[in-house]
Amino acid sequence: MYCPFCRHSDSRVIDSRTSDDGLSIRRRRQCPECGGRFSTTETASLSVIKRSGVTEPFSREKVVLGVKKACQGRPVTDSDLAMLAQTVEETIRSTGASQIEANDIGLAILPPLRDLDEVAYLRFASVYQAFESLDDFETAIGQLREVHGRLPARPVE
Ligand SMILES: [Zn+2]
Repeated sequence: MYCPFCRHSDSRVIDSRTSDDGLSIRRRRQCPECGGRFSTTETASLSVIKRSGVTEPFSREKVVLGVKKACQGRPVTDSDLAMLAQTVEETIRSTGASQIEANDIGLAILPPLRDLDEVAYLRFASVYQAFESLDDFETAIGQLREVHGRLPARPVE
């Protein structure tokens, strides 16, 4: 890529390191012409196919925005949401797909959201899975109870 300072058409990599989450590589570069240093970040492209057929880059911010509404009034912090969005991205990237349907993002959100806050999970699932009646809620709550039955009881705080 061009040097951002002098537009020289070449640059030399002087350092590269993988980010903590392993999803991107940051490279320090130096321009052989003017000596200017700059950084680039390299990530595998991941695009989302929307219902309209339009594709757009995957965005953790959009995941957070999508979930935030369901978390209103719940004890869920911004860093909880950031962690959730990271888990969702890792889940999707681990499938090796470079393109996913918007719908699949919703599916990837459900398990970590269930672990985070069950009320928020029920709200999100009710919208995302288009619950139509109390029966749908009952089924979802029944599934939550089943999960509880398999897990050791949580310590009382
Ligand atoms: Zn330069």
